[in-house]
Amino acid sequence: MKIDLITIFPGILEGPFKESMIKRAIDQGFVDINLIDLRKYTHDLHNKVDDTPYGGGCGMVLKPEPLFEAVEDLKKKSTYDQVRVILLTPQGQVFNQQKACQLAGQSHLVLICGRYEGIDERVRTALVDEEISIGDFVLTGGELAAAIIVEAVVRLLPGFLEEEASTDESFSGSLLEYPHYTRPAVFRGMAVPPVLLSGNHGEIARWRKKQSLRRTYERRPDLLQQADLLPKEKVYLEEIKEEIKEENKEENKKQQSI
Ligand code: SAM
Repeated sequence: MKIDLITIFPGILEGPFKESMIKRAIDQGFVDINLIDLRKYTHDLHNKVDDTPYGGGCGMVLKPEPLFEAVEDLKKKSTYDQVRVILLTPQGQVFNQQKACQLAGQSHLVLICGRYEGIDERVRTALVDEEISIGDFVLTGGELAAAIIVEAVVRLLPGFLEEEASTDESFSGSLLEYPHYTRPAVFRGMAVPPVLLSGNHGEIARWRKKQSLRRTYERRPDLLQQADLLPKEKVYLEEIKEEIKEENKEENKKQQSI
């Protein structure tokens, strides 16, 4: 996969791609990531990329000419048939794991990082295939949003992570992932659930599935409503509801006795 990020502040994006998982993905040839400085596509003495908005008002707007030139140049140089151009904007579709999976199936992505008040509308209407937001809040620029998208997408590239690591993960199906423990078996009086030390893989899988269901039921019941649960999982869920009821009864008794 190839990912080009168009930005006026390439320095912001250097760090995230030089460490850990993304660096490994680049080094192992899973992805080719390029930081494209928008100013390289200007032709004036001051490399001007922005201008004041027509109609007045505060802030600046990224000009259309350098963005058109940059995207057209990247498309021309691309060795892939399809280049998907994505604009980072708080007005876009909110990013999620499903979108990350879809993007991981693309071969060449061009991410446009906005700044100031945003970009000239003609870029959006004539150049952009898709608009993505990373949530209902406003950042100063699209760079960190782009880094988040790159990280979520790259870890899903086929063959990059162990399959198990991504299939059990939160949002890969309709459930949140179960809790994890590592050594020591007892830390400050807090013991690891005995089943995890049992070596019984069937029991461990059952425990994990129940924990996964419980977490989702308690934290994200909206996910469970859309989930297509197996008959066995429906039984676990009923057991969990009973367990929670019992725990609440115990808790109430304790409170009353204080
Ligand atoms: N004036 C714009 C509006 O009200 O919709 C906000 C512009 S914002 C200050 C500058 C740039 O940051 C945007 O062009 C976009 O690239 C990026 N940005 C801000 N919030 C974002 C978000 N939630 N998701 C993705 N990109 C965002």
